Amino acid sequence: MVTITHPSLPAFEYIQPKTLAEASRFLSEHADEARPFLGGTDLFVRMRDGVLSPRFLVDVKNLDGTNELRFDPQTGLTIGAAVSMNRVIASPDVQGIYPLLAEACRSVAGYQLRTRATIVGNLCNASPAGDTLGACLALDGFLHIHGTAGPRREMLSDFFVGPGKTTLKPGDIVTAVGFPLPPRGCAGVYLKLGRNRLSDLSIVGVTVLGSPDPGLPSGAHFRIVLASVAPVPLVAVEAETYLLGQPITPETLHRAAHLASEATKPIDDIRSSARYRKLMVASLTEKALTAVWKKILQ
Ligand SMILES: Cc1cc2nc3c(=O)[nH]c(=O)nc-3n(C[C@H](O)[C@H](O)[C@H](O)COP(=O)(O)OP(=O)(O)OC[C@H]3O[C@@H](n4cnc5c(N)ncnc54)[C@H](O)[C@@H]3O)c2cc1C
Repeated sequence: MVTITHPSLPAFEYIQPKTLAEASRFLSEHADEARPFLGGTDLFVRMRDGVLSPRFLVDVKNLDGTNELRFDPQTGLTIGAAVSMNRVIASPDVQGIYPLLAEACRSVAGYQLRTRATIVGNLCNASPAGDTLGACLALDGFLHIHGTAGPRREMLSDFFVGPGKTTLKPGDIVTAVGFPLPPRGCAGVYLKLGRNRLSDLSIVGVTVLGSPDPGLPSGAHFRIVLASVAPVPLVAVEAETYLLGQPITPETLHRAAHLASEATKPIDDIRSSARYRKLMVASLTEKALTAVWKKILQ
């Protein structure tokens, strides 16, 4: 245990456990005063701003498997919790098979930040504005979690329960995020609207993943996930369902984008008014659906 003091941070003890079991035990025994961390790009900012002042910071990098990024052609992709976004972007497997993940990571801040920031940190922070949440949900991501009772898996679709809130319990450590093989011929797009092009959270983020399906009237199946417009990342189910039964035309894509906008529950905040967010969801969803449809037809 090392005591860390820094002029802009509250003092804390740095804990570097040797095993996941040790880390889970420590976190559960100090549930109100200890937090796990990875890149620290969310956690240290919240400590600097006085939002959090944990007594213990538990470094969960370098624990069993957390540094691995591996692709298995039978089962899919596993991204260890400590893998930085720049490593994800640089991975040939991600570029070739899961390009939507690379695109989402590339939209996060700048290069320097992405050498520290992780996808798992972005997911555990559970901001509805998090840029990688949409891609991870659209690709049917699931979490590997180590708790006091040992390892388990949890679907990402059940993970987010409110702004900054997840289903994680004291002692739980997310060790990796996994993805099944993506649907054959799928194509995706992430459109982010921020106040500037660097280092800002989204005003609105729209993720669309489309997959060809000749059995459907539309000829394709779409996933639509919206950021910054609800307490948790919002899957636009009404729009997705509407598109299943329609031939794809500019009119049906326009209608689906409006259904997506109607499903949102945005708030006014320092980045935007709620009204502007709703309008931008309609506009960006239509743009993203059109771009994905063109990619599928290529
Ligand atoms: C300048 C700046 C710009 C930013 N720009 C963006 C942006 O454009 N888009 C965006 O989405 N985000 C942005 N962020 C936020 C942040 O960089 C991301 O959310 C990042 O992905 C967090 O990853 P991390 O590894 O640093 O997480 P950490 O800060 O280490 O952890 C984040 C949270 O998750 C918890 N946690 C960490 N690891 C685990 C674990 N293994 N199991 C359970 N809980 C865990 C921590 O206790 C903490 O609450 C920005 C931050 C800064 C400082």
